Amino acid sequence: MNKCHYTNDPKYGKVLIPHCWGVVISGDMTRCTCRDYPKTVAQFERKQFNELLQAKDKEIDNLEKENVRLNRIIKKLLNKKR
Ligand SMILES: [Zn+2]
Repeated sequence: MNKCHYTNDPKYGKVLIPHCWGVVISGDMTRCTCRDYPKTVAQFERKQFNELLQAKDKEIDNLEKENVRLNRIIKKLLNKKR
């Protein structure tokens, strides 16, 4: 299934091609409710890649927070020893 989009018509210029009722009724692209499923292997792989990247970024964030927390504990323990 296609998404709502604009096309360039040589006679009429920029023409809206709606594919969902939100855009059919309003004529407003911001009301588009079309779902964007990957249609090609490249799109699918890019989507998977971006999801993996986001998951890794979140993991790195969590590890950095844990690192800060553990460093505080180490500092406290070192201060107690002295
Ligand atoms: Zn739409």
